[in-house]
Amino acid sequence: MTAELYHLIGGEKVKGTSGRFSDVFWPMTGEIAAKVPLASEDELRAAVENAKAAQPAWAATNPQKRARVMLKFLHLCQENYDELADMLSREHGKTIPDAKGDIQRGLEVVEFACGIPHLQKGEFTEGAGPGIDMFSMRQPLGVVAGITPFNFPAMIPMWKFAPAIVSGNAFILKPSERDPSLPLRLGELMLEAGLPAGILNVVNGDKVSVDAILDDPDIKAVGFVGSTPIAEYVYTRATAQGKRAQCFGGAKNHMIIMPDADLDQVADALIGAGYGSAGERCMAISVAVPVGEETADRLVEKLTPRVEALKIGLSTDPDADFGPMVTAEAVERTKGYVDLGIEEGATLVVDGRDFVMQGYEEGFYMGGCLFDNVTPDMRIYKEEIFGPVLSVVRAKDYEEALRLPSEHEYGNGVAIYTRDGDTARDFMTKVNVGMVGVNVPIPVPLAYYTFGGWKRSGFGDLNQHGPDAIRFYTKTKTVTQRWPSGVKEGAEFSIPTMD
Ligand code: NAD
Repeated sequence: MTAELYHLIGGEKVKGTSGRFSDVFWPMTGEIAAKVPLASEDELRAAVENAKAAQPAWAATNPQKRARVMLKFLHLCQENYDELADMLSREHGKTIPDAKGDIQRGLEVVEFACGIPHLQKGEFTEGAGPGIDMFSMRQPLGVVAGITPFNFPAMIPMWKFAPAIVSGNAFILKPSERDPSLPLRLGELMLEAGLPAGILNVVNGDKVSVDAILDDPDIKAVGFVGSTPIAEYVYTRATAQGKRAQCFGGAKNHMIIMPDADLDQVADALIGAGYGSAGERCMAISVAVPVGEETADRLVEKLTPRVEALKIGLSTDPDADFGPMVTAEAVERTKGYVDLGIEEGATLVVDGRDFVMQGYEEGFYMGGCLFDNVTPDMRIYKEEIFGPVLSVVRAKDYEEALRLPSEHEYGNGVAIYTRDGDTARDFMTKVNVGMVGVNVPIPVPLAYYTFGGWKRSGFGDLNQHGPDAIRFYTKTKTVTQRWPSGVKEGAEFSIPTMD
């Protein structure tokens, strides 16, 4: 019997009532592991009602106590690390060490959120005018929501709910329907850590529940992470209804390789950043841009045997470089892009399309692919493939290499490999991309900085995590206060200036 998953509403596990379900797979074997209920508008509304009822008391709880819940949650996740990583890797397909990284990068934002007593402090000016003090407070918005993708089922839900909840909001999490078990488990651990019922609700679903979130007048802010078309749709619909929205989308991350770079280091970096997690990372490097023909020839020569030797294995295999992809459709879509690249005239140097995992023929596996001579007019360059495919685009000089990521419609991450400080500095200053690595392949900022792509990789004006997350989930109230004479002096008709 296939296990039936549930929602977490008002602190309880609640069975789905819509009658609609989606299959959740184990990518390693291709088996159906569970079915996840897809919430109706009414089920989403029930979560909002619970959240709305619980939120005022939570907002009135002092920030130290809110932080202590996060601290307890952090410890519970650490105690259950192995179980969580196993659960994550089975439903997603990424290897166990990579699953641990997914959890760890989420927990770092939880650690940051533990600083809320300091982070939520307002500003204060004593004597802003005669007998007048002025100060600002950061108050929670009320009920807020997060809609998250399949590829980081631990990290991104935590990036969303930790800052929102610790700031005094109640939260509705709508995780990806492809790997919902881990987000549900995180919700249970938050309750175990002492979070009051109703403050974190996990509602499983698809477009129906997303639309219900976007249209619900009691939800004041929406944080989204996923593909660009859906990010844009969520941003447009949410903001049209007066909500705050920050929506992060797809990517095409380039690595520029200057002729002076250490090509062994570059090859290591590209293999890890291009093929780790089967390329299903928004910060994966999918385009390598060697500068000059000689650099390009040497690079392709170094990369080819490394891509051929990639070890694709079970997610639980400690020796695997990467495991299966998330679904059979993901494999088909990626293979379709490889077919397209050949049609478009790119050179397929390594072909991983026929890879079969012995004994696991029904699993969602694909080998690593390497394209050379990819050009900017090709769809395989313009579009996000989101699989284990690396494209080499040859640039004749530095200026051309700088233009490629700058002019691409996506602008999530970019990296440059060089030994020359002046080139690196010029690049980091001029490149039109949100996150830059200098001799670092996946420049994911740490929790106390912010994370966000530019152009069509991000819609909205505040980034994820770091100080921006607290700003996003709170509103500023500014108070001008005078004691004790009040306003007895009579009416004042011109705007007060504090002179
Ligand atoms: P997706 O867009 O398919 O799904 C994301 C969320 O939107 C899920 O919760 C899903 O249920 C919901 N959704 C899907 N279709 C919808 C529709 N038509 N209407 C309303 N809601 C819908 O993305 P995914 O495949 O789960 O994740 C991979 C994508 O996420 C990639 O494009 C990747 O680059 C991107 N991503 C971006 C970042 C970032 O920070 N920029 C981080 C991780 C992933």
